[in-house]
Amino acid sequence: QNALLSSTGTTVFTVMSALAVQHGAINLGQGFPDYEGPEPVIRAAAEALMDGRNQYPPLTGVPELREAVAAANRRFYGLEIDPLAEVVVTSGATEALTACLMAVLNPGDECVLIEPLYDTYLPVVRMLGAVPKLVRLTPPKWELPRAELAAAFGPKTKAILLNSPMNPAGKVFTAAELAFVADLVQRHGAYAICDEVYEHLTFDGWSHIPLMTLPGMRERCMRIGSAGKTFSLTGWKVGYITADRSIAPNIAKAHQLLTFTTPPNLQRGVAVGLVLDDSYFNGLSTTLQAKRDRLAAGLSALGFGVLEARGSYFVTADFRPLGFAGDDVAFCRHITEAAKVTAIPVSAFYDGADAPNHYARFAFCKGDAVLDEALARLAAWK
Ligand code: PMP
Ligand code: GLN
Repeated sequence: QNALLSSTGTTVFTVMSALAVQHGAINLGQGFPDYEGPEPVIRAAAEALMDGRNQYPPLTGVPELREAVAAANRRFYGLEIDPLAEVVVTSGATEALTACLMAVLNPGDECVLIEPLYDTYLPVVRMLGAVPKLVRLTPPKWELPRAELAAAFGPKTKAILLNSPMNPAGKVFTAAELAFVADLVQRHGAYAICDEVYEHLTFDGWSHIPLMTLPGMRERCMRIGSAGKTFSLTGWKVGYITADRSIAPNIAKAHQLLTFTTPPNLQRGVAVGLVLDDSYFNGLSTTLQAKRDRLAAGLSALGFGVLEARGSYFVTADFRPLGFAGDDVAFCRHITEAAKVTAIPVSAFYDGADAPNHYARFAFCKGDAVLDEALARLAAWK
């Protein structure tokens, strides 16, 4: 059997969700909303399902969705994208990430990854026979260590994978940081795979800047979005990649090998979503910001050291002030069992030794009553 897969553990999200079910805990671990996505999007998908258009759609996506992705690129970022040649629809951002890595990496190529990292990045880079070069951001500031990033690039660098807004850090890369990354990518003739699934989930006036919009980067970036995050429909698994016509054909071939197509009715629903008016997109971030504030204030009041979260579904909290003697894995298991609230250990987003091990990630994409109940349970436990 494949040694890399045999040595890959079950994802921490599945492990912690199962533990939450086992203990009847409120699951603030795995990042999924407990509320529905927008009604017009769901209705459009349901209608498309009943319309009898249920056979294989075009390989790169239904035309309505590719056009909606191109229109969203123009509307939100001023990017001019050809919907026929520069958009590929995939079964979730998860597939999109693998397809983009497949599209550019050859065995032996180096790929720069930034810790904390989402759990699929490292195993997929390794499965492709490429060599990961890790650069570490650490809490509480999650600052980009520029000298280390520069040192991670070399003659064998083929790509960097950048996640902004960042899970679990809640970091939104600044224009200056992105310019630094863009300069390295261009100087090394590399590509950038941009995991931007939280693009519309930014707070406090922070806004997401796609690396693709920086000078000289349009031909080098693969920009990944997710309907799961943008429309609070994580089970749908519809992702979309925007990439220059010089890269998109290889991405389409990777998609052809991985899944070939993505359910057409879901694509038609997402096409309706991407052209919803500004009030939808503004409402999404406003609502989530209020949830972040609710959870962050409650955790702070309990004594946690809550870090700033400028984007995503997550707040990260230092539990040392509570006097817990143990690492983050022990802490997250303990509160699941004893307080009946589940969180994710931040060390799960790091590879190897010396990872930060006293932070827990809490998802706030939940109903207010659920957040309040979780806080009440933690208060009773403490
Ligand atoms: N990237 C990041 C950073 C994520 O947090 C997630 C999980 N939502 C994904 C990719 C995967 O997205 P999808 O559910 O669309 O596959
Ligand atoms: N992206 C979600 C998270 O970070 C979960 C995705 C998954 O369960 N694989 O919590």
